[in-house]
Amino acid sequence: MSLYSHLLSPLDLGFTTLPNRVLMGSMHTGLEDDPKHFGRLASYFAERARGGVGLIVTGGFAPNIEGWLSPFGSRLASSRAAQRHRPIVDAVHAEGGRIALQILHAGRYGYHPLSVAPSRIKSPITPFTPRALSSAGVERQIRAFVRCAALAREAGYDGVEVMGSEGYFINQFLVEHTNLRDDEWGGSFENRMRLPVEIVSRVREAVGRDFIIVYRLSILDLIPNGQSWDEVIRIAKAISAAGATILNSGIGWHEARIPTIATSVPRGAFTWVTGKLRRELRAAGVAIPLCTTNRLNTPDVADAVLAAGDADMVSMARPLLADPDFVRKAAQGRAADINTCIACNQACLDHTFSRKIASCLVNPRACHETELVIKAARRLKKIAVVGAGPAGLAAAATLAERGHSVTLFEADQRIGGQFNLAKQIPGKEEFEETLRYFQGRLTATKVDVRLAQRIGPESLIGSGFDEVILATGVTPRDPKISGQDHPKVCSYLDVLTGRRAVGARVAIVGAGGIGFDLAEFLVHDGHSITLDREAWLREWGVGDPAVARGGVAGVTPQPTPPARVVFLLQRKAGKPGAGLGKTTGWIHRTALKMKRVEMIGDVQYRHIDDRGLHIVVGDTPRTLEVDTVVLCTGQEPLRTLVAPLQQAGLTVHLVGGADVATELDAKRAIRQATELAARI
Ligand code: NAP
Ligand code: SF4
Repeated sequence: MSLYSHLLSPLDLGFTTLPNRVLMGSMHTGLEDDPKHFGRLASYFAERARGGVGLIVTGGFAPNIEGWLSPFGSRLASSRAAQRHRPIVDAVHAEGGRIALQILHAGRYGYHPLSVAPSRIKSPITPFTPRALSSAGVERQIRAFVRCAALAREAGYDGVEVMGSEGYFINQFLVEHTNLRDDEWGGSFENRMRLPVEIVSRVREAVGRDFIIVYRLSILDLIPNGQSWDEVIRIAKAISAAGATILNSGIGWHEARIPTIATSVPRGAFTWVTGKLRRELRAAGVAIPLCTTNRLNTPDVADAVLAAGDADMVSMARPLLADPDFVRKAAQGRAADINTCIACNQACLDHTFSRKIASCLVNPRACHETELVIKAARRLKKIAVVGAGPAGLAAAATLAERGHSVTLFEADQRIGGQFNLAKQIPGKEEFEETLRYFQGRLTATKVDVRLAQRIGPESLIGSGFDEVILATGVTPRDPKISGQDHPKVCSYLDVLTGRRAVGARVAIVGAGGIGFDLAEFLVHDGHSITLDREAWLREWGVGDPAVARGGVAGVTPQPTPPARVVFLLQRKAGKPGAGLGKTTGWIHRTALKMKRVEMIGDVQYRHIDDRGLHIVVGDTPRTLEVDTVVLCTGQEPLRTLVAPLQQAGLTVHLVGGADVATELDAKRAIRQATELAARI
């Protein structure tokens, strides 16, 4: 049996055959929003096409102004605009790839005052109340979808994806949660599903038979009054009959309060829902290919899903940001070389939701292909990199790939730095993948790795190094709390390295990224539900959609009891965790609430003694009777080597936490180190 025989087998669509089962899922990068970025978009997609992906789907383009995601955002509504897409399409085709344009009408999720929807119901994630469409208005939206698809064909695209899930415009017609109409577009399900069926059949009529129409169907709404399972099956059949080529899966509306793509979501957590639908459709004689999605980030997982008969294709968006050569590496038997998406959202979705150009934490070249170019060095140098955390690893590997002779010094017995701590947190197991990836790059490029060597300046001065990169990381900040020398006090490093046992009642001082991680670590006591799909679904209250409407109606979350009583404290008065990722902060807060962690802001630390931690909350004194107090109060840079090296005349560069500890952040560290290494 050949490697990944399911994933890599061609898919016959009748009028065309895709070379494999990998669909690069739509991902809004921000480059779509301004034609001046289309050259960058072309390079970004061309790299993925060269890497062998079967079918690329662009980020969403609105069919008209009312369907904008944000003011003056991406839109395809005229022939002139279509011509500007030519370089994108040509670049993909030149690499032998195929590309479909996603048509996304935001409806009430539009972040602008011109948004429209089936009914005048504001969404919880935008400040604008949409205008309810008249019947003629609904017709105008359908015509806009059809025009957009025809323009995509005119621009040279191989197809379109009609975005019918995640709670956007089309989805808003399907459920009574957002559709209170009593005309031919509301009321019965027959009426509510008329809109997508009309759109698909009229698009098919306009584009002809030899054009791919992917329809993204919400198969699990994850909102209380979402679609019933019968309704999902009915619409799947109707969309297929209307002329769609592929049915893609959508999981959860944006307003759903169940995580669907974060790193703590088990791999392939929702493929069983696509599998359930596929079996129902096949039993009814409906043969349309089904694509599954969410948290599929390795060829093994993707191949297994297809082998199990849960789908005909897999959609991967973020994994192809992380590694454009995902498919090619899998086909060449080099899966271990894949730069795996760790599902952190930090550089992709968090950027998109902050209106910044997306990138990738583990691959800073993503969406910056034309700017961050790694070329062979013109003058080869001997370079020392000190510290093998994310910054040091990225610097060492990139420098060596450019031809430099690199020695990497690390005080610990293993590479990884802070990632070795992060990967121990339940739900952050993916961080190990990044270390595996960097280890492979170090080996392939023959970096001289010296582990367990805490070197001083004398080892670097006079050793023939042309330049030194200091990626020495951070040391925990001393919060200077009265009584912090009490035996019950320790640092997060003591806990995560196993140097200190922790009692049954714990106070965590500092509610930043590390405080939250540590709380998660302590309430779980070693067991990670991210590695146990059924337990995870129970914990978050996701049920069989054939029993529970939308997968959640009437299902009570059943979190496992916390392993300890945990208090998580900060001095700021705002809500703890406000500085966490835009798309993941709510998940961390919700997960800890489910474990009954008491999060307290506006705290003044008074004293620590045998009774516990004495604090004042607002004006009220309180004693937290705890066995252990863990300090997670931020970091200071570790850069003692700078001065002696500079005095000795060496060229020294600081990267990562050693440069800016307040932003101790792997995204910044890897990007900064890669950019530096590309220049030297
Ligand atoms: P941090 O985010 O800066 O948080 C430090 C915490 O300590 C804050 O809650 C701060 O809040 C408190 N603090 C600061 N100085 C203090 C003092 N003198 N006395 C008492 N409390 C003090 O630092 P971190 O938690 O070490 O995380 C560092 C970085 O790691 C993050 O910025 C993030 O980039 C990365 N990281 C992120 C995640 C994640 O997002 N899940 C996880 C791990 C690490 P108050 O000043 O209000 O008390
Ligand atoms: Fe994946 Fe994180 Fe990169 Fe996004 S930023 S593609 S989630 S690794």
